[in-house]
Amino acid sequence: MANVKIDNVVKRYGQVQVMHGVSVDIEDGEFVVLVGPSGCGKSTLLRMLAGLEEISDGTISIGGRVVNDVVPKDRDIAMVFQSYALYPHKTVYDNIGFPLKMAKRPQAEIDKKVTGAADILDLTKYLKRYPKELSGGQRQRVAMGRAIVRDPQVFLFDEPLSNLDAKLRVTMRVEIKELHQRLGTTIVYVTHDQIEAMTMADKIVVMRDGRVEQIGSPLDLYDNPVNVFVAGFIGSPSMNFVNGKVGTKDGRKVFLSDSGLTLPLPETALEAGQEITYGIRPEHIEIGAGGVPMKVVVTEPTGSETQIFAKVGDDLIDAVVKDRISARPGEEIGFVIDPAKAHLFDRKTEQRL
Ligand code: ADP
Ligand code: MG
Repeated sequence: MANVKIDNVVKRYGQVQVMHGVSVDIEDGEFVVLVGPSGCGKSTLLRMLAGLEEISDGTISIGGRVVNDVVPKDRDIAMVFQSYALYPHKTVYDNIGFPLKMAKRPQAEIDKKVTGAADILDLTKYLKRYPKELSGGQRQRVAMGRAIVRDPQVFLFDEPLSNLDAKLRVTMRVEIKELHQRLGTTIVYVTHDQIEAMTMADKIVVMRDGRVEQIGSPLDLYDNPVNVFVAGFIGSPSMNFVNGKVGTKDGRKVFLSDSGLTLPLPETALEAGQEITYGIRPEHIEIGAGGVPMKVVVTEPTGSETQIFAKVGDDLIDAVVKDRISARPGEEIGFVIDPAKAHLFDRKTEQRL
């Protein structure tokens, strides 16, 4: 096991710079998730960790050793990709044992490690099969098995669940987390899926356009997003954002949206007239009398909860409530908002106020 230090890392492809000084400290045994939209640089960073991509500037250390010029096989890391890259003509057993065979380990050790990994990954029954005789989830597990037998200092995962269907993704999420709890090995895991990040990570690194936007625990990011981007990216369904300014009503400061919606503000030192973006999560809105009057557009019942989309002027806001609500489109409904749950951002800089 080892810690990983990414220090001011820059990546250029020819003239084009795609990574602009990324720094992340990863503790020994930590499960860190790099998350962000497609193209933000997650895979590039992971590939630089693995040694598959040159580091243009800055340093990466694994276990206290700078690895910028260390070849991949000497970095003591194991990587699992979205495409499983299994050998089609080798059995599951031989696929899992391949790295050990390449390292010319004794057969007894190979046998012990392969059967051990197969046991952990529930693949014992399939050891004699070939990849084409496996489901997507099983193939993904074989790829993980091949990483586990190497007993690396750090596991790197690049979107390992993207090719699986929704139900299997949930199962595999639990399996990978369990695996981490069992092995305790440092993991750096890349995904564009914020739910995967929230459910699996000890620490999340939110990236955008080759930069780190925020680093924190899942609940840190949920409770205290530093800007509109992180606030909108973390949490599902997404936070509602309404643009407007600080106003006053009955001697109290309130939020006045551009299209005439009035929302309650928390205690704030903001001055009347200041342009802000008001954020409120759907799950922090309740339905009730005395709430902000909104016109229902659509309701989506999911059984356990109801999501209600409602409007005032151009402002569309959605609420998620545990009850079953049978509001009709066009009906007026009250959105009760606890101002303490509101997130306020500068409208221009989009930074948290
Ligand atoms: P992500 O994994 O977050 O989707 P990538 O790390 O694959 O993003 O890509 C980050 C950026 O680097 C993108 O803008 C992409 O177009 C660019 N990029 C990736 N690989 C290359 C390459 N070999 N040559 C030029 N640009 C690249
Ligand atoms: Mg990628």
